[in-house]
Amino acid sequence: MLTDLQIAIVGGDARTLEVIRKLTEEDAILTLVGYDQLDHGFTGASKRNIDEVNFSIMDSIILPTSGTGLSGEVETIFSNKKIILKPEYLKQTPPHCHVYSGISNSYLDNCIKNSNRKFTKLFERDDVAIYNSIPTVEGTIMMVIQHTDITIHGSNTIVLGLGRVGMSVARTFALLGAKVKVGARKSEHFARITEMGLTPFHIDDLKHEVANTDVCINTIPAPIVTAEVITKMPSHTLVVDLASKPGGTDFRYAEKRGIKALLAPGLPGIVAPKTAGKIIANVLSQLIKEDVLSRKGKIT
Ligand code: NAP
Repeated sequence: MLTDLQIAIVGGDARTLEVIRKLTEEDAILTLVGYDQLDHGFTGASKRNIDEVNFSIMDSIILPTSGTGLSGEVETIFSNKKIILKPEYLKQTPPHCHVYSGISNSYLDNCIKNSNRKFTKLFERDDVAIYNSIPTVEGTIMMVIQHTDITIHGSNTIVLGLGRVGMSVARTFALLGAKVKVGARKSEHFARITEMGLTPFHIDDLKHEVANTDVCINTIPAPIVTAEVITKMPSHTLVVDLASKPGGTDFRYAEKRGIKALLAPGLPGIVAPKTAGKIIANVLSQLIKEDVLSRKGKIT
């Protein structure tokens, strides 16, 4: 239980409601910033403007998955009021205060550095990334069904990258009956792709591999699906780029060539906000408990 812990939840979306629900169940004392339009009241939670928050008592601060903007603005879908996370707010927190966010940027990194607070980027954790790959794959299937006139079954599908998302995508498309080739660059990845019963190829050979591709799903956050590659694709190929913005596809050239290429960020929050929220909530609750135990000297 998180009894008596003071936690500020600053901004958020439908996923954050699951976090609020979970932490409320765990008996934490929550201060919600950016929730004035949310009708639902949570026991043990009070709604505040950011300048009304007593940061000096906060054990944890939970930011939205997007963290902050480059000027400190924090997104919320439950308020029209502008929220800015000022560096001085973090400096007011007790030294043990731990800040959690999905991702970070230079603004947030600087705030954390200047305040010398502990910081966890949840989306960098393997557990969150692997759990999140489940709704990501379901969203990818949805997009492929919506944007093609063929079945996934029997399609020639290329998956780029065998990381946490790539592996789930490749396996699931293969289970749906697609003929899956996976582009990677490490010897151990070629071995794993072969073990999975799929066809590996070196990412450097991508332009030679796309000649009969129906669907190309990129998970590599680097410029991989270049003009040189796109020019070798059949005109009906659908490119779904899952990599974080700006993706790994030359979208300008794809459009020029008439290839449908879609950047598809944030699928878990779009297709399954409740599940995506529960994934974050469960991991956060565990991390906050570990934080408390480590402060009491029970774990290191
Ligand atoms: P990951 O586990 O780090 O996997 C990334 C993969 O890309 C690895 O296989 C890596 O191979 C490969 N890679 C990276 N740079 C490369 C390069 N220059 N050349 C060739 N291969 C390269 O990441 P992940 O968790 O699978 O996530 C993949 C991307 O999807 C990220 O950008 C993430 O933010 C995004 N994502 C999007 C959604 C969505 O809804 N669209 C959801 C979750 C995640 P090596 O091991 O050889 O480096």
